[in-house]
Amino acid sequence: MNQLELLWELQKHEKHLGLLKEKLENLAKSSYIETMTLKMEDLEQELSNRKKSLEENNKLLRKNDSTLKELNFQLKEIEKELYSGVVTDIKQLDYMDKESESIKDSINELELEIISLMEDIEDIRMEIEKIEEEHRENKERFKETTIEYEKLTDELREQIRKDMDQIYNVSSKIEKELYEKYNTIKNNKRYAIAEVIEDECSGCHVIIPTYLLDKVKSREEIIQCENCGRILFSPVHP
Ligand SMILES: [Zn+2]
Repeated sequence: MNQLELLWELQKHEKHLGLLKEKLENLAKSSYIETMTLKMEDLEQELSNRKKSLEENNKLLRKNDSTLKELNFQLKEIEKELYSGVVTDIKQLDYMDKESESIKDSINELELEIISLMEDIEDIRMEIEKIEEEHRENKERFKETTIEYEKLTDELREQIRKDMDQIYNVSSKIEKELYEKYNTIKNNKRYAIAEVIEDECSGCHVIIPTYLLDKVKSREEIIQCENCGRILFSPVHP
């Protein structure tokens, strides 16, 4: 490989390295892991809220159950007295009758409340189940993706390391002055070597004069484009 071909090799590896670094940066920027972590925290919060409201509803249900028992007991007592024949005073009987009706109303009301409460509890239970299922799936997916993400990052790092080794190897074989020239053009023009395609400099699209074309194709000398100053490289080599 002569000096020109080494330069061409160098540019290829540098371009490749640039692409790899960009990929690595994009991977870091997409921050899937961060988004996913936030989402899972949200779900956990939601789950804890639902569990709290389930607990409150259960407490209320227990309280209503015991009130219902109490009311049923009171009703029984009144009815026992009412039909025992012990009380004969009409006014008192009337009062007890009204009392018993009022307790019956309260019992009906409470029973409806209990039914609605039980329905709510069932709904919350189902919601909790759904959230837990989603959370489980997310955790599973998150684990898989994290492994994939790390694998991809490791692969990119490994390729970057290889490119850097190759860049070091190639550039150490290039003469110092030429290497400096290459870097100067690169700094000014983004890339230093332009391929000649259909007799044009692919860097600036100016036609290369015939007297230079043969020299470029021979790859024996370092020829710069008269217009943009890039070093010309012919992909076809006779
Ligand atoms: Zn040019």
